[in-house]
Amino acid sequence: MLYHLLTFGCQMNIYDSQKIESIMSKSGHSPVCTPEEAEVILLNTCSIREKAENKVFSKLGRLAELKKTGGGKLIALGGCMASLRKEGLFRRAPMVDILFGPDNMERLPAMIADFVSTGARQAEADFADHTIWDGLGPIEGQVSAPVGIAKGCDNHCSYCIVPYTRGPEISRPADSVLAEVRSLASGGCREVILVGQNVNSYKGGGVDFPALLRLVENVDGIVRIRFMTSHPKDLGDELIGVMAGSKKICPSIHLPIQAGGDAVLSAMNRGYTAEEYLDKVARLKMAVPGAAISTDVMVGFPGETEDDFQKTMDVMREVEFDAIFLFNYSPRPGTPSANFEGVHSREVSQSRFDEANALHKTIMAKKLGGMVGTTHEALCLGPQTEFSGKKLHGRTPHNHLVVFDGDSKLKGETLKITITRVLGYNLFGVMAK
Ligand code: SF4
Repeated sequence: MLYHLLTFGCQMNIYDSQKIESIMSKSGHSPVCTPEEAEVILLNTCSIREKAENKVFSKLGRLAELKKTGGGKLIALGGCMASLRKEGLFRRAPMVDILFGPDNMERLPAMIADFVSTGARQAEADFADHTIWDGLGPIEGQVSAPVGIAKGCDNHCSYCIVPYTRGPEISRPADSVLAEVRSLASGGCREVILVGQNVNSYKGGGVDFPALLRLVENVDGIVRIRFMTSHPKDLGDELIGVMAGSKKICPSIHLPIQAGGDAVLSAMNRGYTAEEYLDKVARLKMAVPGAAISTDVMVGFPGETEDDFQKTMDVMREVEFDAIFLFNYSPRPGTPSANFEGVHSREVSQSRFDEANALHKTIMAKKLGGMVGTTHEALCLGPQTEFSGKKLHGRTPHNHLVVFDGDSKLKGETLKITITRVLGYNLFGVMAK
């Protein structure tokens, strides 16, 4: 059958979507570019925040219209929303025919076949004590590819749905990670992004995360290694040392702080104080000068006082993050914080969001403006379409995206790019002579 896959959410979902594509093609299904052309529409969803779910529900509303007029289309919803809401989702989204959780994706072709032959809705969204890592084959032609190294999470931050949608943390055996990295490298991939909910607590068959990085570094053909997400409490000196001593591991890290007030961090069950976070950042910057640090910040957590919020702003000023994923708190069903007192009005939360966003914009304008005239090695990711007149885009080691003119044959090359101007958070440049 012809299928169209829509992916919502994080790097983990992008990685899972590659597996879904592989599973579908092994079963003889073929991808198409639009939902209009498809017989099966797959949604790989995210439920980390209410806003993420609302995006999916609104998409489903549009697909329901298409289903009415398009005749015979089948809608299968996978990922965290399937895992969180299970069969209850059929009531809110009657246009959905199949539900499959992140651990059930290998069952998707059989579920499609069952639905087609019986017309009965299908739902499988339970955790497995294993996951299918191998034999799904990386997507060909990727210059930069995510590689899953762990799934699930044991941290139970009080606001987070992940331990309930993806289950306990399970690390992928190091041999299996390495086999996939080698396979990617032999297909021309130059950069791997090791992904998991908490990569730095990885333990795959006695290999910890710093040791895994050293093994991946030895794979010929791979010139850059990134990883995400790192939990601040698990960022140790050994990992910092491996980053400092490596020519392949990019000098950038995603290190979510979430909040700058210790009372809020404690209520979030994050396992560190702001001072401990800042101490780790200082040690990282000492060992890896100029390291880029991106983060997640959540404002309007229940009980967050104005003083707590200002402490978050203080941390933002001190670290000068290179990117921030900024969110308004939204309660997730079944998490401890959904029952916390001190819930803020939408206005309070939004005004803190706007204030934090404005500060980040000011910091970034200074930071990116300071890059004009400097030259960076960008890994060319290929053509881009967002900006007219420019043909290529690439990523600097510090994870800044840069747009420049050039021939699409340069995809996969590491090029020296001189930054010429900044537009919003985007950098534009020219190839250095
Ligand atoms: S570390 Fe916390 S926020 Fe991150 S996935 Fe685990 S529970 Fe969620």
